[in-house]
Amino acid sequence: MHRLAVSRARHLGLRATLLLASAVVALDLASLAAVKAAPPAAGVADSGAARVRIEATDDGYHAWADNPLPGPIEVRLRYRQRHNTVASPALPARATIPTDGSTVVAVFRAADPSGAVDFDLILDSVPGNPSAQPRDVTYLLPLTKDTPIAIDQGFAGSFSHDDDENRYAIDFAVPVGTAVLAARDGVVMQVIDHHLDALRNNPAQHRGAGPADKLLRNTNHIRILHDDGSMAVYAHLQQGGAVAKPGQRVRTGQHIGWSGNTGFSTGPHLHFAVQVNRGMRLVSLPFRMEGVEAETPH
Ligand SMILES: [Zn+2]
Repeated sequence: MHRLAVSRARHLGLRATLLLASAVVALDLASLAAVKAAPPAAGVADSGAARVRIEATDDGYHAWADNPLPGPIEVRLRYRQRHNTVASPALPARATIPTDGSTVVAVFRAADPSGAVDFDLILDSVPGNPSAQPRDVTYLLPLTKDTPIAIDQGFAGSFSHDDDENRYAIDFAVPVGTAVLAARDGVVMQVIDHHLDALRNNPAQHRGAGPADKLLRNTNHIRILHDDGSMAVYAHLQQGGAVAKPGQRVRTGQHIGWSGNTGFSTGPHLHFAVQVNRGMRLVSLPFRMEGVEAETPH
């Protein structure tokens, strides 16, 4: 999950509001207080990248959430703090935002019109539409036929496949630079491939009790949206290892990237999982894959 903390929206009360009416308040998005990490979890957690922006209108401050991704996301808007502020709907408020879309999540106004409105917001986002109805399909192996198949960790693997997001993931032990193929048709929703290799990057922290969330943020991955709203995650790609681009439609078997060893990883492998958004949280689904028996816990 992605959290975006927006710095203060502080205004001078009703009079100022009226003066600002119909003007877009240029909140200082550049000085965002913090982008907090997702809670510790193995594999790939985050993935949203929604932004919130405030617009002053006659009927209050509209908090818009913008979705820059080529796929739907769900957002939750909440307060970090507030004084003399009421929201409609009350926070926390959720909304589902379509591909490349924007939605007003809540409208704010002064509880006491003679006083100043003052609020800080945090926007959490999770990729995928929470009402997705995944179909039962057979996935293709995300590797070429001549790649020797060794599975490091299967469903419910005790090393890192022990949370909802990753329970039904498979780790294929493959050398860095192995071609990764799309296991199912879809649209590339997110590509992150700028991180350095995990071991070269930060071996001590990687092995130790360091914050898993920090490591997660260093996991290169591709997220592909399927036509039923489920998503496949191909993770630990090497730096610069994405061949497919955001928004691109890919076919089963198409070359989408190169495997690596980035993020929370103790050795080169490809982490593959099918996920759905189950209401502000990603949940991995059991799946069938041609030529792979992944039912046995590691
Ligand atoms: Zn894994």
